[in-house]
Amino acid sequence: MNDFEYLMPTTINEAISLHEKYGEGAKYIAGGTDVIVKIKEGKISPQCLISLRHLQGLDNIIYEKGELRIGAMVTHRMLELSPVIRNEFPVLADAVENIGSVQIRNVATIGGNIVNAVPSADGAVPLIALGAEVRVIGPKEARIIALEDFFIGPGQTSLKTGEILVEFLIPKLLSHTGAAYWKHTRRAAMELPILGVAVLISLDDDMKTCTEARIGLGVVAPTPMRAKNAEAILKGSKVDEEILKKAGKAAAQECKPRDSSRGKAWYRRDMVELFVQRMAKVAMERAH
Ligand SMILES: Cc1cc2nc3c(=O)[nH]c(=O)nc-3n(C[C@H](O)[C@H](O)[C@H](O)COP(=O)(O)OP(=O)(O)OC[C@H]3O[C@@H](n4cnc5c(N)ncnc54)[C@H](O)[C@@H]3O)c2cc1C
Repeated sequence: MNDFEYLMPTTINEAISLHEKYGEGAKYIAGGTDVIVKIKEGKISPQCLISLRHLQGLDNIIYEKGELRIGAMVTHRMLELSPVIRNEFPVLADAVENIGSVQIRNVATIGGNIVNAVPSADGAVPLIALGAEVRVIGPKEARIIALEDFFIGPGQTSLKTGEILVEFLIPKLLSHTGAAYWKHTRRAAMELPILGVAVLISLDDDMKTCTEARIGLGVVAPTPMRAKNAEAILKGSKVDEEILKKAGKAAAQECKPRDSSRGKAWYRRDMVELFVQRMAKVAMERAH
């Protein structure tokens, strides 16, 4: 492991200036659970690490008038234990409570999970289903990007050099909305998902007709993705077994899994078909 400087700015502007000063040699670090592993494995060798830990206001969970804002430095453990997340956004609790171990969740952040941008990032899939946007601040501008457009390839995001992900913006949910996430793994703990499925469903006052559906899928394409064909089948339909089967099949057809040591492509497709249906049912129960 090479020597590197460790810098601890206290404002976003200071962090960005330091990043500009060190250029290519600079790397932001949040919890470090991805960065430090990469440094140890020799995959990256930054000249300096710029810690985001002391930046003010990046570790808040704010729920106001139905809208949710989650700071990038909020840890998985903070989300897991938050009454707002558990009661109002259980789909997010489903995901973060199964990330790594308690020790990992105590330091690893939701911002780091998203910027690291691996297809298996557990935080990405429920946030996509919730329609999250990210607010970023960089040397030149501040901007807001839909999370589903944020990922551009495995490990790649649309962040420009020096930009900091500041927070996630989750819009107010429609009434009668429920959502659920399933992390499909071989073991119950310390395991990356074979696939991840999150389904959000909003129901009309009749509690049968779907007015909104968003389906997030992980590890079945180069980036976390939305299953838009499956969503279109659900939207406007009275949700019954037959419609759910159709939606499951559509999601399995539109995903693009590959064979890996954790699972074959055909198996991932079969499991997408199954878990889209199961998570839709849990989402509907929660909507009730
Ligand atoms: C033992 C172990 C088990 C794990 N299990 C899981 C699991 O089950 N599911 C899962 O999804 N992940 C898992 N991970 C991966 C990791 O813990 C998560 O991805 C974590 O959320 C990363 O957050 P971090 O704060 O540690 O990020 P860091 O390692 O600090 O940073 C990750 C990347 O994001 C950048 N970055 C961080 N924050 C910002 C920001 N605000 N703005 C701009 N750039 C930023 C960094 O420069 C770096 O490129 C595991 C890791 C370990 C070591």
